[in-house]
Amino acid sequence: MPRAVRGMRDLPPSEVACWRKLEQILHEELGGYGYEELRLPLLEHAELFERSIGAVTDIVSKETYTFLDRGGARLTLRPEGTAGCLRAVLARQLLRGGPRRFWYLGPMFRHERPQKGRYRQFHQLGVEAYGWDGPDLDAELLLLCARLWRVLNIENVELQINSLGGESARRGYRAALHGYFEAHLERLNEEQRRCLRENPLRLLDSKAAVLRDLLREAPSILDYLEPEATAHFQGLQELLAATGLSWRVNPRLVRGLDYYGGTVFEWVASGLKASQDAFCAGGRYDGLSGALGGPPLPAAGFAVGLERLMALLPEASGTAWAASRPHVYLAHTERRAALCLAEWLRDQVPSLRLCTHCGTDRLRRQLRLADRSGAALALILGEQELAEEQVIWKSLIEDTPQEKCPRTLLPERLRRLVAQADVPGACQRSSGQEAH
Ligand code: ATP
Ligand code: MG
Repeated sequence: MPRAVRGMRDLPPSEVACWRKLEQILHEELGGYGYEELRLPLLEHAELFERSIGAVTDIVSKETYTFLDRGGARLTLRPEGTAGCLRAVLARQLLRGGPRRFWYLGPMFRHERPQKGRYRQFHQLGVEAYGWDGPDLDAELLLLCARLWRVLNIENVELQINSLGGESARRGYRAALHGYFEAHLERLNEEQRRCLRENPLRLLDSKAAVLRDLLREAPSILDYLEPEATAHFQGLQELLAATGLSWRVNPRLVRGLDYYGGTVFEWVASGLKASQDAFCAGGRYDGLSGALGGPPLPAAGFAVGLERLMALLPEASGTAWAASRPHVYLAHTERRAALCLAEWLRDQVPSLRLCTHCGTDRLRRQLRLADRSGAALALILGEQELAEEQVIWKSLIEDTPQEKCPRTLLPERLRRLVAQADVPGACQRSSGQEAH
C-alpha cells in the first residue's frame, strides 16, 4: 500500500469541514480590515528565499526543499509566503495606486523533524500590509489578530512584542551579543559557534535548553535602539494600551527570518507545547523590498500556523463545524427515473444535498446505506410509486411511519426540510463512514 510522504498529511472530510469553516471566518474578518486575497505559486526561485529569509537561517540552511527542475532552474517549494507575496506585488506593480493590504493562505514546506504541531507540509495564513510606516499599522495588525482569536473563542494567549530597531541598532547589538557569547564559548556547540560568527541574532531564536539559560543574562536589544526606533516602539505600546490590548515586551524575541527590523511579535498559547507554542508571528520588514531590488517600501505582516491554530480551537467547534451530511438519500428500483427525479429536485430546491443510490442493490441494503450516509430523509422510488407519480417519504431521524408523497408536493416539503436542517446549531447526524 503506498504511504504518504513523511510529515505530509491528508485531511479526511471531517477535518476539511473544519478547515473550510476556519477559512471562511478568516476570509470575513480580513475583509473587515480591507485586506485583499492573493493567490501565489508554491514554487519560487531558490534565490528569492536566500536573499530574503537569509542564507544563514535554519529555514534556508536546513529546511527548504530545493531542487533543479528539468530545465535546470534551481527552485524551492515555498517555506513561507512573505517573500513570494512581495515579489508578486512588486512584479505586478500592485502598489501603483498607493498603500495596500493583502492576505493569502496555503501550504508551506519545510524539511523539519515531524512531530505534533510540526509538519513538513503545513499551512499558513499570511497577512501583509505595504506602504505604511507608522506604529498605527503595527497596532492594527495586532488588533486584527486579537479579533481573530476572539471570534474563534481562543483564550489563554499572550502577545509578546519587541523591536529589532534599524540597521545601526542591530549592528551595535550584534557586537554586544558577540562579546557576551565569546565569554561563554565553551558552552556553545559547533553549529552555535558558526551562528555566532555569521548571524548572532539567530542564537536568540534557538530552542536549545543550554542557550535558553545563557540568554537570560544576555544583553537586550532595547538598549541599542535608535531614537526613531524607540519612538516607534513606544508609539505602538501607547496605541495598544489605548485599544485595550495587553502585551509583554520580550527583549529576546527575534524572528527566524533575516528581513525583519523594527517591531516584531509573537502570539504564544499556553495550550501548546513549549517549543511550538508560537502559533502566530510577524513584524516589520521595511528592508525586504530593497533587498529584492525593489524601491524602499515600509512593510509589515504576520503568519498564522493554521495547524497550530486548529489545535487551539475549543472542542465545541469540532461539533458545530461538522461536515455537512446529505439531506436526502434517494433509494430506488428505477434507475432512469431516479436520475431524472434527482436532477429535477436539485433544480427545484436550492441548497439541497441529495445522494442518489448508484448500483442495483436490493432496497434493504440501499436503506442501510441511506442510514449510514447521515441523511435525514430517505426517498424511495419503486415501480409502483413511479406509476402513481409518488415517492415514499421515510424519515431517518424521527420514529414516524413512512408515507407516500405526491411528486408535485415534494419540492415544497424538501425546501422546508433543508431550511430546518441548515439552521446553525441544528442537530446534524454523523455518519459512521469515517474513522476519526
Ligand atoms: P518555530 O519556532 O515553531 O519553528 P518558526 O519561527 O519557524 O516557528 P515562522 O517561520 O515564524 O515559524 O512561521 C509562522 C508560524 O507558522 C509559526 O508560528 C507556526 O505556527 C507555523 N509553523 C512554522 N513551522 C511549522 C511547521 N513545520 N509545522 C507547522 N506549523 C509551522
Ligand atoms: Mg521553525
